[in-house]
Amino acid sequence: MNETTDNLMEKIQSLAKRRGFIYQGSEIYGGLAGTWDYGPLGVALKNNIKDAWRKKFVSSKSDMYEVDAAILMNPKVWETSGHVAGFSDPLVECPKCKNRFREDQVEDSKKNPGTKDCPNCGTTLGAARQFNMMFATQIGAVQDSSSTVYLRPETAAGMFVNFKNVIDSFHPKLPFGMAQIGKAFRNEITPRDFVFRVREFEQMEIEYFVKPEDWQKYFEYFKDSMLEWMEEVGIDMQKVHELEVAKEDLAHYSDRTIDFEFDFPFGRKELFGLAYRKDFDLGSHSRGSSVDLSYQDEESKSKILPHVIEPSFGVDRSVLALLSSAYAEEEKEGETRSYLKFKPSIAPVICAVSPLLKNKPALVEKAQYVYGMLKSEFGRVMWDDNGNIGKRYRRQDEIGTPWCIVIDFDTLGEDNASFKDTVTVRDRDTGSQKRVPIADLITTIRAELV
Ligand code: ATP
Repeated sequence: MNETTDNLMEKIQSLAKRRGFIYQGSEIYGGLAGTWDYGPLGVALKNNIKDAWRKKFVSSKSDMYEVDAAILMNPKVWETSGHVAGFSDPLVECPKCKNRFREDQVEDSKKNPGTKDCPNCGTTLGAARQFNMMFATQIGAVQDSSSTVYLRPETAAGMFVNFKNVIDSFHPKLPFGMAQIGKAFRNEITPRDFVFRVREFEQMEIEYFVKPEDWQKYFEYFKDSMLEWMEEVGIDMQKVHELEVAKEDLAHYSDRTIDFEFDFPFGRKELFGLAYRKDFDLGSHSRGSSVDLSYQDEESKSKILPHVIEPSFGVDRSVLALLSSAYAEEEKEGETRSYLKFKPSIAPVICAVSPLLKNKPALVEKAQYVYGMLKSEFGRVMWDDNGNIGKRYRRQDEIGTPWCIVIDFDTLGEDNASFKDTVTVRDRDTGSQKRVPIADLITTIRAELV
């Protein structure tokens, strides 16, 4: 079966809801556009993504400093960064049905070239106006323009404003980087495509500070590392494409940007970005705050404003790329089996433990022992004794559990003494089963978690 068929998105979305990955935000109140709530398996998947990212880009490095800055920042930050004046999308409104669209997402009219028709009712749309995508709110008890603050539209600024703090606390030598994982908010005009374009999302960003003459070397380094990471977590690399942003489309502060695009079920769209931002951010925040954000270079005994390489990852788009990469179907005995072929290191549940029959106390007791042992070792282990064994396998396949471990009569040594204290381990992708001694389970599983 072709996994890129039109209804792949529907299948993924329905599986995500049914099995507890992602629910509509505020669902019982009819939802809230552009928001999604992560259920237990979605949280586990996101945590595994964030852990893998942190491990590759932060904790395994000696030159990376992670921060967790406040979501609410002094509004001057966003004036200085250019977001108050320029973080906007072109909005068009339909004069008849009043629906609003992002102008660049509406196709040109076939009837009247040079104009655009409302995708909802066909009326000719009006002229575009700029719509700022930052969410504004009020801080404190007085509600006037002086109390306006914004929910951050990106995590990057939280690193630039803490650049001097990190230098003063840790005295890092160039090159070094700062990293942050956290929520960002954008009042997207048309949130769409499940968790691809949402109004509240999570980012994992790095600002890597280098000497100006070294930028190309580190740009290449991060380009390679980003691709490596995508492959490590199990994103289908056949669907990843590098888009070198054309010179004329680059932001004024960037000399080079690559968008990593992914073939989502709804088309090829940006997954992550990598930008060379020169000294734009440190320069403007130095001027905006009147605090000197230059770096004292011990080698040249001079002050320099480091240049920045910015790898930027979206957690929610990672989730969607992983679900799209992992979703698979197979026809078996007249039935369609759907499964998520997650890598064990990323799978929300590493293994499920079941007694073959739940009304046989000796089986249940042994299974509970195995479950307790694996749970305390790996955490992401599920107890599953509902329905018959076939149903349990289907359920675990659908959530991408690599192994189902079954405690049966052989485990008790009732039929064949040589199988005593061994369990059946069933593989998600092949359906094949093998017997593994309970004593070897932890090392066998650990060996696969790379
Ligand atoms: P797009 O062009 O798709 O709106 P962008 O170029 O504005 O994205 P960046 O500002 O570069 O995105 O943000 C960095 C990353 O944050 C993106 O590569 C993406 O993974 C994620 N991201 C940005 N906007 C959203 C959103 N509305 N919903 C989910 N993730 C997002």
